[in-house]
Amino acid sequence: MHPFTYSRAADPAAAIAAHAQDPHLAFIAGGTDLLGLMKDRAALPDRLLDINGLPDMERIEVLRDGGVRIGPLARMSDVAADEEIRRRFPVIAESLLFAASGQLRNMASMGGNIMQRTRCAYFRDEDDLPCNKRKPGSGCAARHGLNRLHAIFGWSDECVATHPSDVAVALSALDAKVVIRGCNGERSISFTEFHRLPGNTPNRDNVLDRGDLIVAIEVPDRIEGRASHYLKLRDRESYEFALVSAAVAVATNGPRIGSVRLAMGGVAHKPWRLTSAESALRGVSLDDVQALRTAIATSFVDVRPLAHNTFKIELAQRVALRAVQIAGARA
Ligand SMILES: Cc1cc2nc3c(=O)[nH]c(=O)nc-3n(C[C@H](O)[C@H](O)[C@H](O)COP(=O)(O)OP(=O)(O)OC[C@H]3O[C@@H](n4cnc5c(N)ncnc54)[C@H](O)[C@@H]3O)c2cc1C
Ligand code: SF4
Repeated sequence: MHPFTYSRAADPAAAIAAHAQDPHLAFIAGGTDLLGLMKDRAALPDRLLDINGLPDMERIEVLRDGGVRIGPLARMSDVAADEEIRRRFPVIAESLLFAASGQLRNMASMGGNIMQRTRCAYFRDEDDLPCNKRKPGSGCAARHGLNRLHAIFGWSDECVATHPSDVAVALSALDAKVVIRGCNGERSISFTEFHRLPGNTPNRDNVLDRGDLIVAIEVPDRIEGRASHYLKLRDRESYEFALVSAAVAVATNGPRIGSVRLAMGGVAHKPWRLTSAESALRGVSLDDVQALRTAIATSFVDVRPLAHNTFKIELAQRVALRAVQIAGARA
């Protein structure tokens, strides 16, 4: 294992300054992703700054406008068990409960979860196979290698990886925001803009810069949130990353869909919003399976499978359909 020093941060401003000035320093929260990456030599920080002691970063609070603010150090298990989250946004609670294992969820933070890196096996391989995310310019072993688990939307020749966080998919569907404090103060970024497509810089997963600390996740109050659902298909039931998943939030008008928010996981380098399907689904009766299927298919016209994952095209549409039906039945 790469040698490193360890210290604890007590003050957010000092932590931000230290991170901005030192390119070899990494924040550590639960450590469940970062330490694995270090063992795989996919991350080699010289200094770890433990942010668990920073004040007021683990709270889950209802805001005056009805939205919810989740601290980045709130543990996945605490957010999944929170009464307000379960009542207002079942899709968030479900996405967390279908992620990782019980022990991991007790340790893993929300900030660390949305920052976790891809599970592409080439990226995590210790043998230093070509991987532009791990070593820029070295190539992409998955592009013409084993790519069954990889992207069907938005990939580039430089990287075909998918984003692994489940809750990021739910938060993207709900138009949540990531609140970031950096050297120049605080800013908010919509979840749909937080993670990046790979383009020719796949080494960057998201839009954070050096010195940026996630200080909150804010979920706006949405009527659709109450009738929401997260459906995840994976290769084994005990615990596994998504092969394909869908986060859906619906408001109905009698038997018809009034408005719907729909995002998918396991299909792209970021949570993938199905905006065409969201428009096409408005007014469709929840009983009309063919019309639901046709509306969802509008978001798949530009799908681009790789050699080993054509099956994801049909699978993803079925998952989206079933998730819409389940969320609709809760409305
Ligand atoms: C076996 C296994 C199975 C898993 N299965 C799933 C799954 O099915 N679904 C799923 O979604 N996840 C899954 N995970 C991933 C797990 O949820 C993440 O490892 C965890 O959420 C990361 O949180 P952490 O607090 O441990 O982050 P850490 O490992 O401490 O940090 C991860 C990254 O986030 C950065 N970071 C942490 N907090 C902040 C902050 N406030 N501001 C800026 N940067 C920050 C760190 O610098 C680091 O780069 C699995 C993990 C394992 C090991
Ligand atoms: S898909 Fe991305 S992460 Fe995987 S080998 Fe290619 S460049 Fe690396």
